[in-house]
Amino acid sequence: MIETKKDLKTFRTEVANWLKENYPASLYEPPKSYEDIYWGGRNQDNIPEDLLLWFKACYDKGWVVPHWEKKYGGGGLTLKESTIIAEEMSKIGARAPLESFGVSMLGPALLKFGSEEQKMKYLNEITSGKIRWVQGYSEPGAGSDLAGLQTKAEDKGDHYLVNGQKIWTSFGDKGDWIFALVRTHPDRPKHHGISFLLIDMATEGVSTRPIKLISGSSPFAETFFDNVKVPKENLVGAEGGGWTIAKYLLTHERQMIGGVGGANKPTPLTQIAAEKVGLTNSILTDTLLRSKIMNFEMNEALLEMTIERAIDEAKAGNDAGALSSLFKYVATEQNKTRYELKMEMEGFGGLEWESEASNNGALAREFLRTKANTIEGGTSEVMLNIISKRILGLPNR
Ligand SMILES: Cc1cc2nc3c(=O)[nH]c(=O)nc-3n(C[C@H](O)[C@H](O)[C@H](O)COP(=O)(O)OP(=O)(O)OC[C@H]3O[C@@H](n4cnc5c(N)ncnc54)[C@H](O)[C@@H]3O)c2cc1C
Repeated sequence: MIETKKDLKTFRTEVANWLKENYPASLYEPPKSYEDIYWGGRNQDNIPEDLLLWFKACYDKGWVVPHWEKKYGGGGLTLKESTIIAEEMSKIGARAPLESFGVSMLGPALLKFGSEEQKMKYLNEITSGKIRWVQGYSEPGAGSDLAGLQTKAEDKGDHYLVNGQKIWTSFGDKGDWIFALVRTHPDRPKHHGISFLLIDMATEGVSTRPIKLISGSSPFAETFFDNVKVPKENLVGAEGGGWTIAKYLLTHERQMIGGVGGANKPTPLTQIAAEKVGLTNSILTDTLLRSKIMNFEMNEALLEMTIERAIDEAKAGNDAGALSSLFKYVATEQNKTRYELKMEMEGFGGLEWESEASNNGALAREFLRTKANTIEGGTSEVMLNIISKRILGLPNR
């Protein structure tokens, strides 16, 4: 069906009206911590009532993931309609109904590589908030060189026996299931011996140990597999074909980190400068700061235009592919700059760590968190390697 502009205009009005009626007033305030966000799954306690109401209202409409098919718990909407919903939610500062690696990472991989049975089971569990997924890629000896991973899965007839260790598993101690890369064929060249397995973390032999970060919080864990039996039906795609799935999933992770499709816009630095530093005759008198902010805003505008172009291409059926590395690189480096400038404008107050006035050191903690942005999902250096090879076509060293 061809959508006309009029259809979409009417749709936008309907979305805005629905949001007015259904978005809970108490959620206009931004979340204060990870506990103030709905992640779904079996392990989140004390979920604020309005957060659940908001999730359920969206779920009933299929708006948790509006562009997935209805049979998977989505809304069966087009990407354009889905973008309109995200934009209208952003206008009122609405929170995502569900934060989920299932939505942003595993879902797209299952849609492309999963069997119909797997899609029906796992996608519905994601959209209904029943199962929270975490990512089991990195290992102590395999980060940027991910294909060097050693966690092994031995074929035992009706199941795999998994042994090994993952590291930096975001929210590993809160996850229900983990999508993990495992080595099924140690005899093959390293990229060809990897398989993509779905593992219930309640299975005997799976354990996690939290890792503390410099920011003081601990949203990470090491994940251990000690003789874990995983049914064969939990393999996605072909045995030994996991690397292709892993790479495809990473493009979605990088788009997510790079902010593609995310509609929530942070407060502009110019506005913060006006409030924190002050203006003379509507002009920021600190010329150095002015020039830094101008450079930053110009890069933001360029990034936004490039993302819009990629979204249009996605609507025409073209995957972002290596472009996702460019978004990830630019957006996370920009985010670091954004917080460096915010700290500069805040002055000494930005260093406060525990006071009530600083909201428990929110700015300093977020500033530190942005450093991890350029590491998670692939480091900036690795993104530059991909950009040089796959986008610019430069020769390998
Ligand atoms: C906040 C956060 C969340 C994360 N969440 C998860 C998760 O949920 N699941 C998961 O599996 N992993 C997760 N990770 C791990 C992340 O994917 C790895 O940290 C990342 O891939 C880098 O690997 P590494 O830490 O082993 O560093 P290394 O690969 O050892 O890199 C060390 C340094 O060497 C540089 N380097 C390495 N290779 C090259 C090269 N070829 N060319 C140029 N420079 C190079 C890197 O850029 C880096 O500066 C997370 C990491 C962070 C910070």
